[in-house]
Amino acid sequence: TKILIPSETSSGERRVSATPEAVKKLKSLGCDVYIESSAGKLSGFSDLSYEESGGIIINNFNQKIWSEADLIFCVQTPSNDNLTKLKKGAVLLGLLNPYGNKELLRIINSNKISALSLELLPRISRAQSSDVLSSQANIAGYKAVLLAASELDRYFPMLMTAAGTVQPAKVVVLGGGVAGLQAVATAKRLGAIVFVSDIRPAVKEQVESLGARFIELPEVEEKPGEAGGYAKAVTPEFLTKQKATLTKYLSEADVAICTAQVLGKKAPVLIDLPMIEKMRPGAVVIDLAVSQGGNCEGTKSNETIMKDGVKLIGAGELPSSVPYDASSLYAKNLTSLITPFIKDGVIKLDKEDELISGCLLSDEGVVLQNKVFEN
Ligand code: NAD
Repeated sequence: TKILIPSETSSGERRVSATPEAVKKLKSLGCDVYIESSAGKLSGFSDLSYEESGGIIINNFNQKIWSEADLIFCVQTPSNDNLTKLKKGAVLLGLLNPYGNKELLRIINSNKISALSLELLPRISRAQSSDVLSSQANIAGYKAVLLAASELDRYFPMLMTAAGTVQPAKVVVLGGGVAGLQAVATAKRLGAIVFVSDIRPAVKEQVESLGARFIELPEVEEKPGEAGGYAKAVTPEFLTKQKATLTKYLSEADVAICTAQVLGKKAPVLIDLPMIEKMRPGAVVIDLAVSQGGNCEGTKSNETIMKDGVKLIGAGELPSSVPYDASSLYAKNLTSLITPFIKDGVIKLDKEDELISGCLLSDEGVVLQNKVFEN
């Protein structure tokens, strides 16, 4: 099996899909691993370190190398130009962002590619070591708090100094999934008082065990639903009441970290402009849901916008800002998923396996999950 580790070409992407440690593992399975020169440079892995792990460095991946590959690791989808060089049955593995991507659909179909999209990996216990969404969300939650702390005009911890006592910062975390819980833990470590809103009842106990306070949900007839551990979209009536409750907490907050998402849907807008008006000038909102439309009205990807003195930061690409650990965890996730399907150096996907069938978009070009491309 020839495995390619190409340089990432998407703008702002600093991660790499395999580390030297992952290359060593893949070599031990009998594969040949080709790394594009400097692919690991932005995440702290030198060409030499890949070579020392048994990888083969190639200056620029040309037509020949792409066309001979059996398995391609990537963080984000390679360019259409490179995808069209792939041979029939080549396996593409990464965060392919297939939602509504008709061009990707066309290429994997016409080039007969087998595409594994990690966004679709089932969230079952056996999948935990391969769960890219979790490993990257964890980093995003952590970094969001550091970003907020550096942008805030106040301390996070309570301090008793000779010049007087400094009160701890108040942080509201919207969404207590993987990113949200890591944001809670990080903000607590920095000494803030933390409040969390989520619509899944299981989250209450989780945030309380981290020392944060759960914001009780409004009383409505139709309770918000949950499927496969994921939240379902709430009704407009619920959302209106939830926002009324949140207004009170946000008006006293210094920081809001927005992580609320609904799988395959637009993120709920939990902070609107009238709510921002009631926040204190100097407060900071970090919106991690910005690429799904955002939890806060007016946030834009990779931009800081001032609104009524509040800093609104659209932070959709935080994992890439911690590229060494993000890449290390990502590479471990990928090798853990693919290892059981490589025997004596030959890759053979078991389509009956729940993890593979969950994220296999296409099998040698036959599209298996048409619906995903329609979103
Ligand atoms: P996510 O990114 O899809 O959503 C983040 C959070 O937003 C969720 O907790 C969700 O309930 C919340 N949310 C949605 N609408 C909201 C609203 N209106 N107001 C407030 N909060 C709202 O979620 P995630 O971080 O990917 O985690 C989803 C679930 O999967 C969690 O239960 C998590 O523990 C579970 N999980 C399981 C595994 C596993 O067993 N392999 C791995 C990772 C996560």
